Amino acid sequence: MPLFNVPKEVAVGTAMLGVAFATGMLAGKRYPSLGFGTSKSSKSIIGKSGPLWQYILDHSLREHPILKKLRLLTVDHPWGKMMVSCDQAQLMANLVKLIKAKKVIEIGVFTGYNTLNMALVLPDNGRVIACDINEDYVKIGKPLWKEAGVEHKIDLRIKPAIQTLDELLASGEAETFDFAFIDADKESCNEYYEKCLRLIKKGGIIAIDNVLWSGRVLKPRKDDLATQSIHHLNEKLLRDARVNISMLPMGDGVTLAFKL
Ligand code: SAM
Ligand code: CA
Repeated sequence: MPLFNVPKEVAVGTAMLGVAFATGMLAGKRYPSLGFGTSKSSKSIIGKSGPLWQYILDHSLREHPILKKLRLLTVDHPWGKMMVSCDQAQLMANLVKLIKAKKVIEIGVFTGYNTLNMALVLPDNGRVIACDINEDYVKIGKPLWKEAGVEHKIDLRIKPAIQTLDELLASGEAETFDFAFIDADKESCNEYYEKCLRLIKKGGIIAIDNVLWSGRVLKPRKDDLATQSIHHLNEKLLRDARVNISMLPMGDGVTLAFKL
């Protein structure tokens, strides 16, 4: 039996499809560039919609029941489209498991779908340092972290992520992390990448989300700082000898950077 019906799944799981929403009022503040689509339509820059997309989900998605519960809860949130796509989350969980990660960082938690996703596959003494500035979003997912029995693996830091990363570096945690997921304000993506690169061990992985930015990277406008920032990081990564990379057309595009 299919786990999803297509329209709901497109609205829920692909999260980033459609034209990226460039501005939004979130918790009384304007966040120009967090990464989500404007419509619930199945319009996609990578064609992931309709029966074939449903087939992919039906034949690959293995979602923990509480993770599914959080995804369905998040979908009904006004900013539900910010959530990472479920297929991408599963890839990240598989990578975290494959490299036997113990310490991971998430920059941009939202309701904590991917935080839970990673915590579920970490060993009991593993840790997710979960960075966000909006506690109201996180409050939605927190009870489900507890229900899943992984709350003790999640170290939530409510403050600007740059500050958390600087604190981790200052407390001597450079080169101690295995995996990082960068998915917050896009203007800061280069800074997040540079700091994560220092925090990650050799052999560790950094996943950078929204690298295609609904196609805007093809023609970055000068006044569009988010697109400029993503595009510059994409160009830099191509030549960055400190990492090997793969840019995947999953969700709104995700680059995996493997630290050498
Ligand atoms: N990774 C999440 C998931 O898997 O569902 C989605 C994250 S959402 C696209 C972006 C998040 O970044 C929002 O929850 C927002 O509050 C957070 N954010 C924005 N600016 C931030 C900053 N300077 N520091 C930390 N978090 C920030
Ligand atoms: Ca994202």
